[in-house]
Amino acid sequence: MTSGATITLQPACSPGRLPDNGKRFFLWTIGCQMNEADSSRVAAMLMEAGYRATNSEEEADIVILNSCVVRQAAEDKVAGRLNALMREKRRRPEMSLVLTGCMVTNQHEALQQRFPHVDLFFDPSDFESFKTFVPELSDLEDDLKTLPHYYVDEAIDARVSAYVPIIYGCNFVCSYCIVPYRRGRERSRPLQEIVDEVRHLVGRGVRDVTLLGQTVNAYGHDLDGEIGLPGLLRAVDAVEGLDRLRFLTSHPKYMSDEILEAMAGLNTVCEHLNLPVQAGNDDVLKRMRRTYAVEHWQNRIARARELMPGLTVATDIIVGFPGETDAQFDDTLTVLREAELDKVHVAMYSPRPGTLSARWEDDVPGEVKHERHQAVERLQEEVCERLNRRRLNTGQEVLFDSFKKGRWGGRTRGNSLVHVDNAGQLLGRIADVRITGATPWYMLGQVTGNPR
Ligand code: SAM
Ligand code: SF4
Repeated sequence: MTSGATITLQPACSPGRLPDNGKRFFLWTIGCQMNEADSSRVAAMLMEAGYRATNSEEEADIVILNSCVVRQAAEDKVAGRLNALMREKRRRPEMSLVLTGCMVTNQHEALQQRFPHVDLFFDPSDFESFKTFVPELSDLEDDLKTLPHYYVDEAIDARVSAYVPIIYGCNFVCSYCIVPYRRGRERSRPLQEIVDEVRHLVGRGVRDVTLLGQTVNAYGHDLDGEIGLPGLLRAVDAVEGLDRLRFLTSHPKYMSDEILEAMAGLNTVCEHLNLPVQAGNDDVLKRMRRTYAVEHWQNRIARARELMPGLTVATDIIVGFPGETDAQFDDTLTVLREAELDKVHVAMYSPRPGTLSARWEDDVPGEVKHERHQAVERLQEEVCERLNRRRLNTGQEVLFDSFKKGRWGGRTRGNSLVHVDNAGQLLGRIADVRITGATPWYMLGQVTGNPR
C-alpha cells in the first residue's frame, strides 16, 4: 500500500505549519497497520511543529521507536534496537529517545529499569504526554488530535493510500493475544471526525483509504445511537473524490449480513475482505477463545462471495498453538484448500506473558511449528497461482503506487499486486489493465485505457 517512488502530490502534513526549526526526528516502526497509522500521526505532529524527518539516527534530535509485542520475535527486535541506541545516547545525551507502541505498559518504572536511557514512554492513545515532552507542540493552536494519520516526507516517499483508525482497543480475550492488555477496551472515534479526516486526505491527493481497528466491524458498538460500520461506510463512501475504501481487521462474530450488504452496495468499497479464522479446527478455536466455529467463518465468506462476485479474501492463521495435533493442523490445511484465499498471514504461536495460553505448556516443538508454517505457505503458493491464472485475460482496475526496476506496480480493487511495463506516468493513477501473466505472488498486465 505504500509507494517507493516519488510523485508530486501535495502531502498532507509536509511542510509543517511552523517553519523548519532545524531539528530532525528519526522514526522506526514495527508491527501492524495500526502502528503505522500511529507513527504517521506522530510524524505529522512533529512536521507541524517545524521538525523534519531524517533517516539517520545519528543526526536526529528525537528518536522514536514504535514497538510491537504481539510475538516474541517482534519484542526482541525492539529490545535489540533500544539496546543498540544506548551507545548513541551516551555519545549525544541531548538526543531524546522515545518509546511508544504496545511495549509500553502503565508500569513505567519497570520499563525505566530495563531501558534507563529512554527519556519518554508513551502509550499510543496518550498523545498528550508526547505533546508535553516536545515544547514546540504546545505552540500550535490547533488541537493536534485532529491531525490526519498521514504524513509524507517528500524526500523519501509519497502516497496515494492512507490508513485511518476508526476504533481502538479490543473487547475480545483470545487466549493467546496480548493486544487487549496493551490497547485496552474498544473505543470508537466519532463518525464526523473520521469523515473529516478522510475528506482532508482526499483533498491532499489520497485516493485509497483503509479504515483500521483490531475488530473494525465492532465500530460503533460503544457509541450512542444507531451508527455502526454500515453507516460509517456509507458516510465515507459519500466523500467526493475518494476512489477506494477498505477496512481491516474484521472479527467473524460481527461479520453481519448488514455489513456485507453495505459493502456490496457502495461503489468505493472494494471487493476485499480480511477475516481471520486463526485455525481450521473447532477444538483449537475453542481453546483460542475465538467465540465461533469454523462453519460460521465459512458461512460468512460464502455469503460475502454471493453478494460480491470476484471478492478476494485474506485471513490470519496461527500454527503450533498449545495442544494442536497433526490431525487438527490438517483440518486447517483442508479448510484453507477449500476456501481458496488470496492471502494468508501465517504466524507460529508465540506465548505472551500475561495471556491465558501462556499458562499452558508450549508443547508443539519449534521444528514442527516451522514445518506447519511452511506447509501453509506451500499450499498458498499453489492456491494463489491458480487464482491468478484464472484472472488471465480479464480486465482489472489497477491503482499504481510504485515504480521499481523500470516497472510500475499497483493493486487491483481486490488488493492483488500487478506489474506493468509502460512508458507513461502511472504513479497515483488508476488504469484499466488486461492481465497477461500470472505467478503466485503477482500478475503481469498491459494498460488498455487512459489512466485517470
Ligand atoms: N484482531 C485480529 C483478529 O481477530 O484476528 C488480529 C489482531 S492480532 C494483533 C494480529 C495477528 O497476530 C493475529 O491475527 C494472530 O494471527 C497473530 N497473533 C496474535 N497473537 C499471537 C501469538 N501469541 N502468537 C502468534 N501469533 C499471534
Ligand atoms: Fe487479539 Fe482476539 Fe482481539 Fe484480535 S480479537 S486483537 S486476536 S484478542
